[in-house]
Amino acid sequence: MDVTPQHIRAYVDYLRDMGIYDLYQRESPGTVLTPELREIFLAAVTPKEPVAQSARAAAQLTAQRTTVPTPSRPPAPASSKPLLDQRSSPAAPPMNYFDIEPQTELPASLASPMPTPVSFDKLAPLPVDIIPPSGRAAALESLRAEIGDCTRCPLAYAGRHTIVFADGDPNAKLMFVGEGPGADEDASGLPFVGKAGQLLNNMIAAMGLQREQVYIANIVKCRPPANRVPEPLEANTCSQFLVRQIDIVRPQVIVALGSTAATYLLGVKQSLSSLRGRWHSTRGAKLVVTYHPAFLLRDPRQKGEAWKDLQMVMAELGLKQVKKQ
Ligand code: SF4
Repeated sequence: MDVTPQHIRAYVDYLRDMGIYDLYQRESPGTVLTPELREIFLAAVTPKEPVAQSARAAAQLTAQRTTVPTPSRPPAPASSKPLLDQRSSPAAPPMNYFDIEPQTELPASLASPMPTPVSFDKLAPLPVDIIPPSGRAAALESLRAEIGDCTRCPLAYAGRHTIVFADGDPNAKLMFVGEGPGADEDASGLPFVGKAGQLLNNMIAAMGLQREQVYIANIVKCRPPANRVPEPLEANTCSQFLVRQIDIVRPQVIVALGSTAATYLLGVKQSLSSLRGRWHSTRGAKLVVTYHPAFLLRDPRQKGEAWKDLQMVMAELGLKQVKKQ
């Protein structure tokens, strides 16, 4: 059987769904590929000639190669590299498999299974040891260093400039989780700094808090192209870091901003309206679901509904509404 880029893409997806990451990094300490398997894989994903079964596929590959400036594998992260504020995307993998539409039906044995959301409670056991408040900032810094110049999912090659880790108090009682960085966040390296971020700041202030007193993060840390919703593969891959951030910060309450955050935190695919207005839980914290600030900017009539959700949080945390002057 001829091996096409579509076959290889499906196999990569399949391995990642099984928890095998960093397929493009030869020296990754986290990989579970044996050296022999890695050599076989790398040989398979480094074709000497474009492999295409149809003229259309060949034309597509040629067009894509003209847009990929450096067809080389990205280097493994080195401890001497700057970990924050990366201003450029890593080099693309040998071929731009991720953007190639399947030309034919994949053989059943190579098709990747449909990823389903897995709740954060099921992604990892709850930690036995609680990091004391004095050690949480350092633990978060260490996690950020571990993420490095991450290439674990396709978003690394989709034009991101900066990995947007998080912002706020490592000891916060309240955490907000959104979907993913937008253009402003990608440029600044901080979550929720654009117009939606300004609205979130206003919501936080109305709750009687300052932005510096809460912790803010996203399901994925790299900007999806054209602000699209993260693919399940991307969200599932990046979730491992947010799980650990939650376990380090140990917030009392988490607010899921929008359906993408709710879907992955809770591991359910339900409408936002069916999830709002009641308490959920994840990683030992109480969780409430509300509208994403970007949605509220498009439909300000829903701000009153979002305020009801935040009032639930305020009652839980003993916060008092700030009266307008
Ligand atoms: S979105 Fe997350 S997993 Fe994907 S490349 Fe960025 S940091 Fe890595």
